[in-house]
Amino acid sequence: MVFLALNGHFDLMQNINEIEELIKLIARLPGLGPKSAKRIILKLINNRDELMKPMASSLAQVYKNVSRCHSCGTLKSNSAGCNNCENNKNKFNKICVVENIADQWSIENSSIYQGYFHILGGTISSSEQRKEDLLINSLVERVKKDNIDEVIIATSATVEGMTTAHYIKDSLKNINVKVSKLAQGLPVGGEIESLDDGTLISAFKNRNWTENDSN
Ligand SMILES: [Zn+2]
Repeated sequence: MVFLALNGHFDLMQNINEIEELIKLIARLPGLGPKSAKRIILKLINNRDELMKPMASSLAQVYKNVSRCHSCGTLKSNSAGCNNCENNKNKFNKICVVENIADQWSIENSSIYQGYFHILGGTISSSEQRKEDLLINSLVERVKKDNIDEVIIATSATVEGMTTAHYIKDSLKNINVKVSKLAQGLPVGGEIESLDDGTLISAFKNRNWTENDSN
């Protein structure tokens, strides 16, 4: 009975322009399709004051006040300094380079690594991603400015990830810094974000120094 009522509700929902628009948007989120989008919207409509209103205002706040740091690529609140690259409490001598923020979160959760992060925001050959947008110049600047000893490249074991790693290594070749890459124990095609902690920890522990290491 409940299910029938829900289906009836869904059909009605689809005739309302505002809701159709919202269904399309929510269905674009990872792991959600039109069906789950409708369920979410129904939940919001049934909890206008407890959920819909605070969520709308929270989204507006995040849109306004949270953005990517121009220097390291992680997320930061516009009203404060960057916790990652402007962290003066903990000075580190390592930078770990990842493709996206989800990768940073996976590595942080595994507790294997203590140091700064650098978030590229993509890979070199991914959908028209331009090299300039990957913050590689800014990585070179950070290495010089913060006296970094080691850059750990933790890009995915995909063709794009490897091309990007190569390009980063090349960009750092004239600087006195060790460059390492996560161990090849990474499954081919493996994305950092989807690795279990054990694999990630062993990839870190067994990381390789790249050939033109000047030290
Ligand atoms: Zn930053």
